[in-house]
Amino acid sequence: MQTESAIRKGIENNEFSFFYQPKVSLVTGKVTGSEALIRWIKPDGTLILPSKFIPIAEQSGLIKEITCHMFPKLVEDILVLTDIDEHLVTSFNTSAKDFEDDCFTQSVLHTLKNSSLSANKLQIELTETATFEAASVIRDNIMILRNAGLSLAMDDFGTGYSSIDTLSKLPFTTIKLDQGIVGRMLTSDKNATIVSTSIRLAHELGLSIVAEGVESEEQYHYLLNAGCTEVQGFWISRPMPISQFISFISTNSSWSSGIPVGLIHMAIVDHVQWRKNLVSELIKIASLPEGHPNRQLLKIPPLSCRECRLGRWYYGVGQTMFHDHVAFQELEFPHDDLHKIGQLLVEMVGNGAKMETLTPYLQKLSASSMEVLSKLQNLEDEGLTDMHRIE
Ligand code: C2E
Ligand code: MG
Ligand code: MG
Repeated sequence: MQTESAIRKGIENNEFSFFYQPKVSLVTGKVTGSEALIRWIKPDGTLILPSKFIPIAEQSGLIKEITCHMFPKLVEDILVLTDIDEHLVTSFNTSAKDFEDDCFTQSVLHTLKNSSLSANKLQIELTETATFEAASVIRDNIMILRNAGLSLAMDDFGTGYSSIDTLSKLPFTTIKLDQGIVGRMLTSDKNATIVSTSIRLAHELGLSIVAEGVESEEQYHYLLNAGCTEVQGFWISRPMPISQFISFISTNSSWSSGIPVGLIHMAIVDHVQWRKNLVSELIKIASLPEGHPNRQLLKIPPLSCRECRLGRWYYGVGQTMFHDHVAFQELEFPHDDLHKIGQLLVEMVGNGAKMETLTPYLQKLSASSMEVLSKLQNLEDEGLTDMHRIE
């Protein structure tokens, strides 16, 4: 462990820099950006990992100085990287202490105003334990950065005591699955379940999800199959100095390994949930006597076929991934039909229709739903066949 005064001297002598570890999209197989990880390189060339000084810096409050000292360096690096590929997003680790006053926040806002850095190229990572007792000043400062356009990731998700609760308290855009859970998911069924349900949770909350600590091709395939969208880990690359990272992105490598079959499964579950939520609300309201004060449809899922989760997938990422698959093309008509019946049912219940009038239309809705499911399952089977052919 390093001492506080040694760290202070290291700051004065400019001995800190960032290594960059790539993140890869499981949808496109391309590098989406990287995580900046601090390294202390002593004048004699010794490299000191953050575990040897970040905990001390956090305890003593020195972390604030490190963060503010490193931020201009980070911006300089990001501008070089986005010059090579404008889509790259860089994430940066922060501690809750960095938000106890507005020093760091103001420094970010100042940089955004006075440099060509776009806010959406920068992501802040916060560990869940650090946010555990997020005071209002911390939340306010984080909110200022979110409003300025930065994204926010919960680091090491699953390791603290309150991950799920914290997700509702701060405006996270991304979950980073802890490397310990990822590392155990192939040998422990419970860990595998935690990984797949965390991915589902992120999907339902509309958050992106990055699995950390991916060390093997097998883990990569498991995550692809589970619907994860991004990975980071030694199997892709270890963290490296910026010069090496530049060569890395310039080689234009691709890790794509076929159809992202997990996303098709997500679409299946989305559809099943949509139908159930709609039918449940329709039946609940139609069963109430006429004139009942609660006879109002309040919890209706999106009725437009482009706005439900399946529709957003179909007309969004689905079009880029699956447009040439017959089962995907054949999905559009029954899905559209399903929504038309849904709209009709909502109108009927709104006009006071009773259960017996609704029943034949509910049956039509179910028939369309079965057709949607059958097309999605055909697509899923195609994906699974493709995946096992590759393996
Ligand atoms: P983290 O943010 O969770 O970063 C991921 C850590 O896991 C990094 O360790 C990375 O090198 C390591 N890692 C990545 N892929 C794999 C893998 O496949 N297998 C294994 N076994 N490890 C992998 P690193 O760089 O030593 O950083 C450790 C922690 O120090 C970070 O964890 C982060 O919490 C903290 N940290 C790093 N840089 C900074 C910084 O600039 N500011 C602050 N406040 N904390 C930082
Ligand atoms: Mg991190
Ligand atoms: Mg982490």
